[in-house]
Amino acid sequence: METTTVKAFGTKAADQPLETININRRELQVHDVEMEILYCGICHSDLHQIKNDFGMTAYPIVPGHEIVGRVTRVGSHVKNFNVGDLSAVGCIVDSCQECESCHEGLEQFCNQFPTFSFNSPDKYLGGVTYGGFSETYVCEDKYVLHVPKSLDLAAAAPLLCAGITVYSPLRHWNVGPGKKVGILGIGGLGHLAIKIAKAMGAEVTVFTTSQSKVEDAKRLGAHNAVLSTDAAQMSQYTGKLNFIIDTVSAKHDINSYLNLLKHDGTVVLVGLPPEPLEVGAFNVVMGRKSFSGSNIGGIAETQEMLDFCAEHHITADIELIKVQDVNEAFKRLEKGDVKYRFVIDMASLKE
Ligand code: NAP
Ligand code: ZN
Repeated sequence: METTTVKAFGTKAADQPLETININRRELQVHDVEMEILYCGICHSDLHQIKNDFGMTAYPIVPGHEIVGRVTRVGSHVKNFNVGDLSAVGCIVDSCQECESCHEGLEQFCNQFPTFSFNSPDKYLGGVTYGGFSETYVCEDKYVLHVPKSLDLAAAAPLLCAGITVYSPLRHWNVGPGKKVGILGIGGLGHLAIKIAKAMGAEVTVFTTSQSKVEDAKRLGAHNAVLSTDAAQMSQYTGKLNFIIDTVSAKHDINSYLNLLKHDGTVVLVGLPPEPLEVGAFNVVMGRKSFSGSNIGGIAETQEMLDFCAEHHITADIELIKVQDVNEAFKRLEKGDVKYRFVIDMASLKE
């Protein structure tokens, strides 16, 4: 297949910095959309993958799956997008489209495993897919989203992963008025969970290890904020919450959060600590509690989330950086030193 060579930012090994590399994008297929990438968010999953935390990274790796851009070319069968349209791509760029999960709009659970926007087997070119730290993206129109015009483009980029990852479980577990929701960890995912859960009408309590974020939580929309390292503050919430979203990226004690649930409550894990978490039997048996998980969201639900965020004026709080500063940004993300999402201005890739 013919390809187009484009500039990207990636790394050849876990211990090497990201730098400019060239990658190939496939020749436009009849259903494909090509976009010029304008902004790309930096998710903690990019960091896990660069470091090979899950033992499945193929190098060189070009991360990036919170992609916002503008359509530059469309294949002859594309009806839904025109050249010049705002467009976006998140985590999923292909799936079998035949299995039960795909038919239900749950492409993230495709029985044949979805193709992710980076570090996933590339059905067209062989090797692996390369993500949004690059000049362009090419994929089938089914996996491309429309960005509502009212959203700030750079601040909307994190919605494509962080936004949908918290929106989907909030919807699935029917969070709304009268529900008391806890959010663990105020990072990229957590700060959007506060805004979205509040817009859904829930009472939001955040649990953070950072004193400075306790102070910032109300500005983000939380009703209550708890320093999770303070046992006295934690004990005030024992048995008080209906639902908790856990966005913590490293190993932590899940049982102390199961204790905060009312009977029949659920903790849903969206964070991906590389090590297993231990659930004590009594922490779920007493009170018929559930410990569950959730992975991003399907394509239709991602569009629904973008429209919901436009309606409620929700975008991420971002620090806009140049691609040349991405290595420093990853070091800061690892230390939890970002309020609350880095987004790369991809115009800097031309410098
Ligand atoms: P992030 O911006 O780094 O936020 C994670 C937050 O977790 C930190 O800001 C910190 O919040 C808290 N934290 C970190 N280490 C901790 C520790 N050792 N103990 C307690 N709290 C700790 O990361 P993110 O981009 O939001 O991603 C969060 C996790 O979700 C990552 O593991 C990522 O890979 C995963 N993820 C999963 C999905 C999915 O579909 N399931 C999608 C995207 C991301 P405080 O300072 O407030 O304590
Ligand atoms: Zn992500």
